Amino acid sequence: MAKGSADMSDFLQLSGKKFLIFGVANKKSVAYHITKDLLECGSKCVLVVLNDEIRSRVGKLFPEIAAAGDIYCCDVEREEEITRVRDEIAARHDELFDGLVHSLAFADYSRGIRPFHETSPEAFLQAVHISCFSLTTIANAFQKMLTKTASVVTISISTTRLASASYGYMGPIKAALDASLSFLVKSFSAFSEIRFNAVGSGPLKTSASAGIPGYVDAYLYAEKLIPRRRNVATEEAANTAVFLLSPRSSGITAQKIIVDAGMEINYFDQGIIDKVNH
Ligand code: NAD
Repeated sequence: MAKGSADMSDFLQLSGKKFLIFGVANKKSVAYHITKDLLECGSKCVLVVLNDEIRSRVGKLFPEIAAAGDIYCCDVEREEEITRVRDEIAARHDELFDGLVHSLAFADYSRGIRPFHETSPEAFLQAVHISCFSLTTIANAFQKMLTKTASVVTISISTTRLASASYGYMGPIKAALDASLSFLVKSFSAFSEIRFNAVGSGPLKTSASAGIPGYVDAYLYAEKLIPRRRNVATEEAANTAVFLLSPRSSGITAQKIIVDAGMEINYFDQGIIDKVNH
């Protein structure tokens, strides 16, 4: 390195940092790509997954984390499990975490896509609990295990205003998740500088989306709307999350960074207009 020039090999300043990541299920998961990137940047990762079956699968993807005994199980729908996993992790980790990833969602599409106004309260509230309120519960449970300047990142969607029928009732739930960010920043500011941000991703190819009826058609349509004619890759959403986790994004908080490859600016795509009118 030339004298006087800065070492940019750790530009994101993630080497030696430590992160807690909720939501790896398989190789397609957004959280899988975030974990992989963080490890490549020299960070340590502790994973929390839904159940034992996923733990053994994820252990094969990250053998070093599994060997360290650092893949834990927690169903976030049960508050007592969040407290239990917090205590298990606290017993094995004295050092504070520099950040936390919440990459979780669940919606019961077993009845197929219903008109929005026919959504059952049970299905809606369960989806709110797992996909939205768990961010607040987890943040509350782990607050003392985070550094004073830690970064918390959740994965939202690019827009909650476009009423895509196939996305069903998850739109308003993601809107509530987005709105929670400001309130978490504010309440945590009483004792820390902890940041809360979201990555607002366009449609991806993951197991969560594969479970949405009619998703493939919507995914292919999105590809036509995107100026570059290529959907967002999961790695692209994950890269943005990694930036938000890093000290290099220190001035960003209570924001949703949209990663949609420009989908939202192209309602009037000429190719689609021609197809509809001719
Ligand atoms: P994924 O299925 O790989 O991840 C979802 C995770 O939620 C899984 O690990 C699953 O085990 C976990 N989960 C579900 N219920 C749980 C519970 N009760 N307790 C604990 N964990 C639970 O799919 P993904 O696409 O990587 O989803 C991650 C995030 O990205 C979600 O918030 C999703 O809404 C968001 N997202 C996805 C897309 C997309 O097109 N796939 C687009 C934008 C945002």
